[in-house]
Amino acid sequence: MAALLSVQNVSKTFQRKFKALKDVSLEVGHGEFVALLGPSGCGKTTLLATLAGFLQPDIGSVFIEGQNVTHLPPHKRTLNTVFQSYALFPHMTVLDNVAYGPLRSGARKTEARARAHESLEMVGLDHLADRYPAQMSGGQRQRVALARAIVNRPKLLLLDEPLSALDLKLRKRMQLELKALQEKLAISFVFVTHDQEEAMAMADRIVVMNQGVIEQIGTGDEIYKKPSTRFVADFIGDANLLECERDGHLWRLQCCGLPAGKLNHQAQPDGATATNSVVAMVRPEDISLSRTRLSEQHEALTATVVDLISIGSYTTVYLNLNDTRIEARRLGANDLALKRGDTVYLGLPMQYIHLVGA
Ligand code: ATP
Repeated sequence: MAALLSVQNVSKTFQRKFKALKDVSLEVGHGEFVALLGPSGCGKTTLLATLAGFLQPDIGSVFIEGQNVTHLPPHKRTLNTVFQSYALFPHMTVLDNVAYGPLRSGARKTEARARAHESLEMVGLDHLADRYPAQMSGGQRQRVALARAIVNRPKLLLLDEPLSALDLKLRKRMQLELKALQEKLAISFVFVTHDQEEAMAMADRIVVMNQGVIEQIGTGDEIYKKPSTRFVADFIGDANLLECERDGHLWRLQCCGLPAGKLNHQAQPDGATATNSVVAMVRPEDISLSRTRLSEQHEALTATVVDLISIGSYTTVYLNLNDTRIEARRLGANDLALKRGDTVYLGLPMQYIHLVGA
């Protein structure tokens, strides 16, 4: 089946010289939840506004169900947008806010109200239909905004950081609600966030952006375990990025000389070229620590504890390995009773080392 949304080679320049989007291509399937994730200023909102029709790309095209909508205004696209600011009409009741969409698209008043009630029911707010937005909490207002966005059953919903104004607990609850609602409605979602946990918690696929380009598209698991660029390795979760040097067909870790992975010329790490360097990514939780040398730990190395932070659910240990800083993480409390200056054996599991072109 053709993709619901297809973005092809879109570029967008502001003020004639600032390239906010550089040759961006992306497909979103029917009923798929895709998150646009990246640091502030990477172009997420610009891309969303281009999909919505609020911005025109300089070059490139946007297709929805095979139709080229690049030059169609927002209201002629079969999509809707939810903004961080809710954008509700303050002088209208919740019901009227939600019924506004169907009324504008020609529904009769009774039908528009029935559909508004149905949408409010879906977000669990029908009992507050007669209230005004000012009489509701932030989370409730965001649900009204959602009800309003889905009332006309768009094929695609664009969401621009819709949960960022909510406190952490409410935000986590809304993430679950939003995901459940998306699955129930089978509407495709494109969701902008700069919060990687939020993206991981909700999205089927994550689009990682940086400085106007897409660095990687993949499931949360893929971008976490197999980042294809140094930026993604560094941006997603915590990572040790260890410089490597080439030794024949091997890449060796500069900090300890161990082979970081066997590679021939057909199996280069993503992004590696003949000339550039390669880094080995190791997640802190994949590094093992012990007070004594375990015989099966062939590659065991000794490192010095530089610092420790224990936050109850896990303990992060910062180590010095031949002048390279390494971060290791242990579940739970500081069970090895480590303290600054201690020497520990450190196990670098080769199977968890992922090489990335730097
Ligand atoms: P944030 O997470 O902070 O919202 P973002 O990833 O959504 O960031 P965009 O809002 O898409 O980033 O902006 C991308 C870049 O384009 C930024 O450097 C921004 O300053 C620039 N930009 C956005 N809109 C305009 C504009 N109208 N004129 C000039 N530059 C703009």
